[in-house]
Amino acid sequence: MITRLNAPDYDRWAAQIRATGGCRQPIHLRGKVEHWDAVTGQLLHRYTTRHEPDGVLRLPCKTRSASRCPACAEIYRADTYHLIRAGLIGGKGVPETVTDHPTLFVTLTAPSFGAVHTRRDTGPCHARRNAPTCPHGTVMSCTAKHRPDDPRLGEPLCPDCYDYTGSVLFNALAPLLWKRLADSLRRHLAKLGGLALRELRDHLTVSFAKVAEYQRRGVVHFHAVIRLDGPDGPTTPPPAWATADALEQAVRHAARVVSALVPAVDDQPARLFKWGAQLDIRPITLDGELTEQAVAGYIAKYATKAAECVGTLDRRINPLDNLDAFNLRDHAKRLIAECLRLGAIEDLADLRLTQWAHMLGFKGHFSTRSRRYSTTLGALRAAREDHARDHEITTGRLPLVDEDTVLVISEWEYAGKGHSAGDQLLVAALTGARLPDMGGGAR
Ligand SMILES: [Zn+2]
Ligand SMILES: [Zn+2]
Ligand SMILES: [Zn+2]
Repeated sequence: MITRLNAPDYDRWAAQIRATGGCRQPIHLRGKVEHWDAVTGQLLHRYTTRHEPDGVLRLPCKTRSASRCPACAEIYRADTYHLIRAGLIGGKGVPETVTDHPTLFVTLTAPSFGAVHTRRDTGPCHARRNAPTCPHGTVMSCTAKHRPDDPRLGEPLCPDCYDYTGSVLFNALAPLLWKRLADSLRRHLAKLGGLALRELRDHLTVSFAKVAEYQRRGVVHFHAVIRLDGPDGPTTPPPAWATADALEQAVRHAARVVSALVPAVDDQPARLFKWGAQLDIRPITLDGELTEQAVAGYIAKYATKAAECVGTLDRRINPLDNLDAFNLRDHAKRLIAECLRLGAIEDLADLRLTQWAHMLGFKGHFSTRSRRYSTTLGALRAAREDHARDHEITTGRLPLVDEDTVLVISEWEYAGKGHSAGDQLLVAALTGARLPDMGGGAR
């Protein structure tokens, strides 16, 4: 830290750090960019990292995961917020008339895979008079009123009874179940409108934005904004028959009927997976109980969370790793072990359970949107990069050039990532970034 502070290029280093927004694990690049005049063959400008601190340029890691890099995940969260909100009230190229389109906030849950410790607003966890004793000798009852930080929350009353196979298979199939739900929605709506499915797109677009959230028990559920638009997306109104009631009816139907099958393998029978019975559907209104800000905030928040709340790892697991070495809670360890066990079965290879064991089987994206939902993350990012580029031009790093006649030659190589411990402290001081957990659990 002292060496860095006393270095003659400290100011340039600090500028790089500010430009990364306090990224915890910036990518280090070594290389150069040259701008040549294609007509005269004259070198207009050369940038090389040779004169940068440590000979590298540091760029933000751009992860979406808050546990890996809070600063970059925060940018992703904010972008997601604006994008979801634009799809609800307009802005960023979406007309304000979108507020008149039928829009629902839908929560789809997983079925039960066994009783888990739960926090309830009213009464204790699992109070049962004459509760049965399971084959492993556990009385299937819990009279505790769990506090919100109780580590037992989400853990099974009896781990030996808990259906770990079902839990990880459901996670693996959740993206397929979602796709089937969306297909079923379209079929149902086409029928309501008296249309053939292939005619539907000439009348109606089903736009959505969804996010996956892990419940404490380790299964994903989905929150989704589902909106009905006309044939050209949010700029066109949906047909009169496509009401919020019609959409709700279609969602209820789809959530009940869609399923995904896992074939019988080895000693396991075939299993059919469906959504859980708990289905929450609420209209989104500007002034009602569920506002567009609340929904956008909710979706954006979960877009940056992985499965950490379940106590799993935030990186891939090698099947040869000794799980006992990771200091995991028993429930997370058993979920991961089940992924690795099923992942080794050839007939289940498509589910890629080994690669996604650290996600407890879920291999989907945390937040996804249909093409027509609103603006895109790419558009928001491009706008920000344009802004950064303008800034670079005004500060003299890049020449203002006519892109048609200038040849740009760049050469980059990866030169590492992250910060030394001393740098990390300076980054925190410069940008207000949170320091990583240095181990030992102290914060
Ligand atoms: Zn980062
Ligand atoms: Zn309990
Ligand atoms: Zn048991």
